[in-house]
Amino acid sequence: MDLPAPNSLSQIGLRVLPGTASPSDPSAAPPKAHLLGLSPDELKAWVASDLQQPAWRAGQILEWIYRKDARDFAAMSNLSAALREQLRERAMIYAGNVARESVSEAGDGTTKLLVQWPDAATVECVWIPTDERDTACISSQVGCPVGCRFCASGLDGVVRNLTAGEIVEQALLIRSRIRAAANDPAARLDNIVFMGMGEPLANYDNVVRAIRILNHPDAFGLGARKITLSTVGLPVQIRRLAEEGVQLNLALSLHAPNETLRRELIPWGKVPLPDLLDACRYYFEKTGREITLEYILLRDVNMSPQHARELAEVARSLRCNINLLRYNPVPGLPFVRPSAEEAVRFQAALRQRGVNAHTRRSRGRRIDAACGQLRRSTIAAGVDSNSAGSSSSSELPTP
Ligand code: SF4
Repeated sequence: MDLPAPNSLSQIGLRVLPGTASPSDPSAAPPKAHLLGLSPDELKAWVASDLQQPAWRAGQILEWIYRKDARDFAAMSNLSAALREQLRERAMIYAGNVARESVSEAGDGTTKLLVQWPDAATVECVWIPTDERDTACISSQVGCPVGCRFCASGLDGVVRNLTAGEIVEQALLIRSRIRAAANDPAARLDNIVFMGMGEPLANYDNVVRAIRILNHPDAFGLGARKITLSTVGLPVQIRRLAEEGVQLNLALSLHAPNETLRRELIPWGKVPLPDLLDACRYYFEKTGREITLEYILLRDVNMSPQHARELAEVARSLRCNINLLRYNPVPGLPFVRPSAEEAVRFQAALRQRGVNAHTRRSRGRRIDAACGQLRRSTIAAGVDSNSAGSSSSSELPTP
């Protein structure tokens, strides 16, 4: 499971902080390393080359970051004061800060964080607690290039990719909330879903790098089978992902069972449906991991009896399950959330055709629950200077 060879500073988590000159400026201070974007091996190499320290020091730093939730080098009490100072000058653990935190008024504990990066760009990530597990829904890009017609995130396009470190950071931020709420410094985050803002496969290298760090036993240490990547469907990248040797779950955001409707709802998804389904079959054959279809229910748009027939056919051809998600309305968009009864009828029509279909419970509907709404409302209030949209819904939709 080698990491993709880094070919830029941002890919290995090194970045120029605002106010510093570019790395091409010879008089500039060297950029600080974002340690969350480094694999354990890379951290060892960096500790040896940049800090002139033995590699085992990296193990101590990893322990502080990933096991003990250290947010500051000053907390690393088994490192010398001189080394802590060296680290402070050359590296950072967390690059962002939580600009807003909203807890669902519905009392289900769903909590959205709006994370602001040093360039003022913001993304959402969501903690979704249930009786059985704690899930983090995280973002992969600032904004989203896909532009699904029903999504707040796609309204304004994409600003930039997140670095691997920025992706890992969201998981740590949510796990720290879980630990605080449980009053247990060892409490675990059970699942991570890439269903927040952005199309993960459009930021392939950083997302795969982040997944390997999240999965690495000396780093975040979450099993790959506990990580789900949700994509609108890029066949080339799906095939590439199948070759990575990571046992990750893949969810395909289908949302329409035929090409004509899909192109209307997801203008970016121009890939012929058969090519996309072939790539999914390839993923299943290579990894043995079942694909899940995600399907947002939009009243009077994609839930007729004919749509149920077509969707059942797609699901049977992939031998996969379907997650049905009742739409969370976005102000200004014309789509309507179906009633629970309508959703159940559609689910029953699928089940009659032998397809395993579940309806996901809507969570945190009162905290700007639809994809990207917390960020949009924050932009409207002037916290974010970027203008792109966003995503991440507590009902776990898309991409
Ligand atoms: S639903 Fe997902 S893929 Fe579509 S625009 Fe929103 S974030 Fe992007």
